[in-house]
Formats: sequence, structure tokens, C-alpha cells
Amino acid sequence: MANPVIPESFRLDHKKVQAPYVRLAGIKETSKGDKIEKYDLRLAQPNQDAISTGAIHTLEHLLATYMRGHLDGVVDISPMGCRTGFYMVALGEPGPEKVLKAFQQTLHDVATYEGAIPGVSELECGNYRDHDPDGAKQWAKRVLEQGLHLQETIEISTEPQAENR
Ligand SMILES: [Zn+2]
Repeated sequence: MANPVIPESFRLDHKKVQAPYVRLAGIKETSKGDKIEKYDLRLAQPNQDAISTGAIHTLEHLLATYMRGHLDGVVDISPMGCRTGFYMVALGEPGPEKVLKAFQQTLHDVATYEGAIPGVSELECGNYRDHDPDGAKQWAKRVLEQGLHLQETIEISTEPQAENR
């Protein structure tokens, strides 16, 4: 078996972050010198709230459709398995401020979306029955009302916890 590599996100202190937020999780550089930025787009507070599978699935379809119109270089936006937000990968160096603005604009698109959700058919989607457009819109509205902020990375402390001493 290959040696395990602990991903960056496993070192994030999920008790100290304050959702909703945008966090620059890391920057990679290709051998040719191109930069790739990775972000957390967190909607729900970890371990206190979670987005239903139908709502996060619909959000995935709408973010995929509209985020690219507000931000250049988007490679991928994928739901977190814990259903509290999305990972986003972007080429270049858009930077957190620009990503936050683009995400706000995209959530506004979602909150005001009318009509059929793009890509929802047996041909286009892997689970086309599991969608919740109203839930997706409610989450977008809620996050816009709460207000997104830029979240610094807070690593899990390696110091012993006071209560465990
Ligand atoms: Zn789908």
C-alpha cells in the first residue's frame, strides 16, 4: 500500500472556522510555472448543519453553470462529502477577494433562479431524481443574508487541549 498523505483539509480546525466563508486552501505550481489555487466555499457550519443531498446536488449544477461566468480559470467545483460546502479549483491566481465576489454573484444567480435546473435528466445527470431547487435557493439566500467572509486557515493545535491536561 502506498504511504498515506494527509490532505491539507484534515488539519483544518473545523470547530474554529465560522461559516459561511471562502478560504484559500492552497496554491500549487505546475512544472511550467502555472499556478493553481484551491478553495473551500463553505455554506454550512461544520458539525452543526448540513445541506440536504437534493439541495447540494442542485447547488452543484447551478454553481457549475454560473460560477464560470463570474470567474475566469475555474477548473472544478465539487461538493464536500460532509455536505457543508464545495471545493473549487481555479487556474491562475484569482485570489480570495475575487473568488469571494464571484461566489456572492453566483449565489445571487442561484437565489433568483427561475426555470428548469440545467443538466437534470437521465441522460445528463447521475442521479437526476435527487434534486431540490427550492432547498438550493434557500441556502443561497441564507448565505447571502448571513454574509460571506474570508476565512483564514486555522490549523488543529498540536498543543494538548487544556481540558485534557
Ligand atoms: Zn447531477
